[in-house]
Amino acid sequence: MSAHTFPAATIEGYPRVGPNRELKKALESYWAGRIDAGTFTSTAHSLRVDTYARLRNLGLTGDYAIPADVALYDQVLETALTVGLLGGDADEVPLDEEFALARGNAERAPLEMTKWFDTNYHYIVPEVAEAGRFVARPDRVLSLVAEARAAGHTVRPYLVGPVTLLALSKPAEGAGNPLERLAELTESYRVVLSSLAAAGVDWIQLAEPALTADLQVAPDDRLADHAATAYGTLLDARVGAERPNVLVTTPYGSLRAGLDALTQAAPEALHVDLAPATLATDPEYPRRVAAAVGPETTLVAGVVDGRNVWAADLRERLTVLESLRDAGVEKLSVSSSVSLLHVPHTVAVETKLPVDVAGWLSFADEKIGEATALATALNDGTVAAADAFARSDRAVRTRRESHRTHDEAVQARVAELPEGAVQREPAFAGRVEAQKSLDLPELPTTTIGSFPQTAEVRKARAGHRAGELTDAEYEAALKEEIRSVIDLQERLGLDVLVHGEPERNDMVQYFAELLDGFVTTEFGWVQSYGSRCTRPPLVIGDVSRPEAMTVEWARYAQSLSEKHVKGMLTGPVTILAWSFTRDDVPLSVSADQIALALADEVADLENAGIRIIQIDEPALRELLPLRSDARASYLDWAVRSFRLVALDAKPDTQIHTHLCYSEFGQIIEAVAALDADVTSIEAARSRMELLGDLEDSFTSEIGPGIWDIHSPRVPSVGELSELIKAALVNVPAERLWINPDCGLKTRGYAEVEPALRNLVLARDLVAESLQPVK
Ligand code: GLN
Ligand code: ZN
Repeated sequence: MSAHTFPAATIEGYPRVGPNRELKKALESYWAGRIDAGTFTSTAHSLRVDTYARLRNLGLTGDYAIPADVALYDQVLETALTVGLLGGDADEVPLDEEFALARGNAERAPLEMTKWFDTNYHYIVPEVAEAGRFVARPDRVLSLVAEARAAGHTVRPYLVGPVTLLALSKPAEGAGNPLERLAELTESYRVVLSSLAAAGVDWIQLAEPALTADLQVAPDDRLADHAATAYGTLLDARVGAERPNVLVTTPYGSLRAGLDALTQAAPEALHVDLAPATLATDPEYPRRVAAAVGPETTLVAGVVDGRNVWAADLRERLTVLESLRDAGVEKLSVSSSVSLLHVPHTVAVETKLPVDVAGWLSFADEKIGEATALATALNDGTVAAADAFARSDRAVRTRRESHRTHDEAVQARVAELPEGAVQREPAFAGRVEAQKSLDLPELPTTTIGSFPQTAEVRKARAGHRAGELTDAEYEAALKEEIRSVIDLQERLGLDVLVHGEPERNDMVQYFAELLDGFVTTEFGWVQSYGSRCTRPPLVIGDVSRPEAMTVEWARYAQSLSEKHVKGMLTGPVTILAWSFTRDDVPLSVSADQIALALADEVADLENAGIRIIQIDEPALRELLPLRSDARASYLDWAVRSFRLVALDAKPDTQIHTHLCYSEFGQIIEAVAALDADVTSIEAARSRMELLGDLEDSFTSEIGPGIWDIHSPRVPSVGELSELIKAALVNVPAERLWINPDCGLKTRGYAEVEPALRNLVLARDLVAESLQPVK
């Protein structure tokens, strides 16, 4: 082990897709066969080397300041391959095999994918067998090191740590808890570490975010015990061969039991998340950290918030660093709180942001500037970083005073709202009576909202954006599309129709572009998984609705049919979950404001003659806090904001909601508490398993999806009617709706038409069998 000191400034991780989404494009070209493996590999190589150069120019100049968290698809997958948790007995796992694990191929299904902590990044979930050797494969990291060296950079290899890797895995069929295999896996990490030492690498990073969360696999103190054992072995100088110095990182929240476990194991450096949001839930954290960390360990203070897009208040952040030093922490470095993977590359390329707003923002590259400025100020005084501090002061002041952030009318309206839970009147039983006037058949059929986004629709939207299509031409094209979607639903015999959402590029972005208090970016892409990126809007201030957003499309669609057409809105929680949010007010404040804007939209839809309104909340579970003690208060404000949207709806207006992407178990009570009249919910893949959970909590109407729209398969009448019958075991016919799992925008008409035809036929068949015999 060398005595190298840790650099003064670093980051926990950096975006991998590239400033122009180079990796995304290369991956998709390779998968589509447009480029060969050699071209793909050299593109990925150039991107990595360019990234290191970029990071160094941004100020990460110290040796090992740059993390090599440069996975081609996913860092969990690549770590699992490196330590042999995946890949079987093979000494080497070829590229195509790696992609097959992530995406599946003709022979096998992909591994599961799920959310990485409470972010919108999704990782590949390794499956851990009961037995079998873990083959250490250090070659991947060794070649990353060599490639960086050849280009003149000394980077820090990155692996997900052993405790987190197993805590995020799932047991293979019949196997026990993956954590039972921690000792064996630690041995494999040791082999990788000693290969790195032999190659002259002085520092490696092991990321252990599992220690900051309440995971279902093991309670906090059990995970801490696991960490004590694993790091005891891994770091023990007496055991086995040489190793590099180890930086353990713990992003996404504060450590509890894990803090003692890790500080006692005494890695050469320990990173902790000291972002404002973390300190808001755990104000004593810096003090606990300072007391626990020993003199041999460098404390890598994650004071630059990697989760949001706001320029840091450098003076306030510096006080946190100084408090650590005053509390006796001798070796102190500055870092981001989490990987910068969750924010876009740079504000500098945006050309359409209002100038004042641009000055308030800080994406990945700007955050690196903040980390280096704080390190300079800490070590040499603020004068040495005067420019950065002046910029920060200006951003903090102008943002606080801006009319863009503070709208008194909105604040006054929110202040008038009742506090706590709100209740739509009358309660469900009374509303059901009023809604009989809708005159719906038994087992009504409907869809979730969007219809296939055809090439023509996309072309019209792009043309309109580029100014090639006038407003009038664009409107005519959309109306044409709506007419054909309504015609199709009439022909298929669906009962409650939708307009198909052709005007929406995205169910959140669409509303963000029409609401005040949001801005959208041109290039603000962040990786969602693999090659997939999203461009989240930014909530920058108080939110309001300058004018109706969906009414004209709904009114037009309704004018084409005698049947009911659903109005279609995205709920406040989902809008927030898929946006960057404010850090100057609690999320619940933005949620109430968005809810009021949507409540106005509900009233306008009613006035336009719309009798059924769907408020989608597919992301309700996504914001669920990692810490169990914070979950109840989240669900309270989330449910309240949904209820505010529907609060003043007329009793005979039927309010629907839709949820998907969730294991609903943990939040099923909250779903019921939304108090929608009808809830459609993803269920086909689990073959209605969730309905058992619903029995006690749910008294309103429900549409468990019977067609898994994520698969291109067209389900038969037979299997659809079986699913309807399965649903009828738990839900009485008066309360059951028949619908697909989710919107149809990613499907083509070739599947949508026959599948919906079968869905209506299956309903007819089951409904017939329910008729009392005369
Ligand atoms: N109404 C939306 C649609 O049909 C819902 C999408 C979703 O749940 N993600 O596309
Ligand atoms: Zn959905």
